[in-house]
Amino acid sequence: MTFRDLNLKKQLWNALDDLGYETPTTIQSASFNVMMSGQDTIGIAQTGTGKTLAYLLPCLNMWKFSKEPHPQILIIVPTRELVAQIVSEVEKLTTYMNVATGGVYGGTNMNTQIAMVLQGLDIVVGTPGRILDLATNGSLQLKKVTKLVVDEVDETLSLGFRHQLLRIFDFLPTKRQNMVFSATLSEEVAAFLEANFTAPIRVEAARSGTPLTQIDQIGYNIPNFKSKVQLLNHLLKSTNDSSKVLVFVSSRALADLLFEEIESFFGQKVGVIHSNKAQNFRFNSVNNFQSGLISILIATDLIARGIDVSDVTHVINFDIPEIPENYIHRIGRTGRADKNGSAITFVTEYESANLEAIEELMQQKLPFQAIPETVELSSELLEFEKPKVVMPGKLVKMARPDDVGPAFHEKKLKNKKVNVRYDHKKAMMDKYGKPKRRRS
Ligand code: AMP
Repeated sequence: MTFRDLNLKKQLWNALDDLGYETPTTIQSASFNVMMSGQDTIGIAQTGTGKTLAYLLPCLNMWKFSKEPHPQILIIVPTRELVAQIVSEVEKLTTYMNVATGGVYGGTNMNTQIAMVLQGLDIVVGTPGRILDLATNGSLQLKKVTKLVVDEVDETLSLGFRHQLLRIFDFLPTKRQNMVFSATLSEEVAAFLEANFTAPIRVEAARSGTPLTQIDQIGYNIPNFKSKVQLLNHLLKSTNDSSKVLVFVSSRALADLLFEEIESFFGQKVGVIHSNKAQNFRFNSVNNFQSGLISILIATDLIARGIDVSDVTHVINFDIPEIPENYIHRIGRTGRADKNGSAITFVTEYESANLEAIEELMQQKLPFQAIPETVELSSELLEFEKPKVVMPGKLVKMARPDDVGPAFHEKKLKNKKVNVRYDHKKAMMDKYGKPKRRRS
């Protein structure tokens, strides 16, 4: 089957030709006719399966030109990076169409976005909070929306956007087509879908939790952070110039710490991205990684979702994700659109329970390899790795060896003044050397 077999507008065929896409992916061919029939759809698809085009193609195919300044298509996504990415995909697909698309997200000036929305948009892509703000202040009119897409609904819910989503639904007309995408169908997601959509048709790219087959997965048992750094250095040195390596860590603090550790070896080739970084910094890191300016990007799970950086050759899980589904999302950054990829996972003893949960989700065991002999393991433990000793009994705050007691500093001169009552007798003595008496 090719895209020519789908009943698409000529303008979309032309855009797909320009992009060099010929064959629809599984989720694209499976969902096309269902969505074109106007029914509510739930797509179960991991990132990397072509799910964005799976909903964009039918939405754009059904879109009709209108003089109306209000959007007909609303796409809700969990992160600002995804907003930018989807806007760019829409723009590529609509090169031959007269469609105005805009992205809205928090953390940036709202007035600029209000001005953009007021100019008139056909498609709005945004994060829940900002869409709601714009709808509430009246600048974004949602009454003309006929197609609603909620992408990555599982992530959107787990980020705590449930309330905002429901309030956005209140602004939408009841007669609309809903298209909801999720990489996993957890109980929480299933309950949310059941409560908010009626009889949606379910289409699936692959069983939820199935890793892409073209990803080579291996694991290393490794004792601690310092040893992980040694192994990482070894692996990074053995990759070639065209490699693009995404290194995932579980927290922002660890991302910064690891960046400091490996920057001394790899200098300008390394970048770091996490949610504590400013938005421009985040966009630049992703762009520099995409363009190849940096070839190693250290990231937290923030960008495990959705971000489409092409040709990632290796994903390294520096530590194992606590939420098993995140493992699938992380490794899904490589092996995209039918390319092969390599996923390497470091597992310490204290992470073995998380590994079991991942293996259960994937229904397959992770094959392990021996650590190369040239890698020097360390026995040094960082503070968070040291076993915590719980002492029974009452908690008493112990003085640290270098404790110097409560803070102490000299009083300022003006504060040293003591108020003394004026003593006339003493003043006379000081002045005349003898007591001065009034004459009688
Ligand atoms: P997604 O799962 O939507 O993040 O898409 C993953 C990547 O695959 C993106 O770079 C898409 O542009 C690309 N892609 C989507 N559909 C196709 C297709 N039919 N043929 C080739 N590449 C595609």
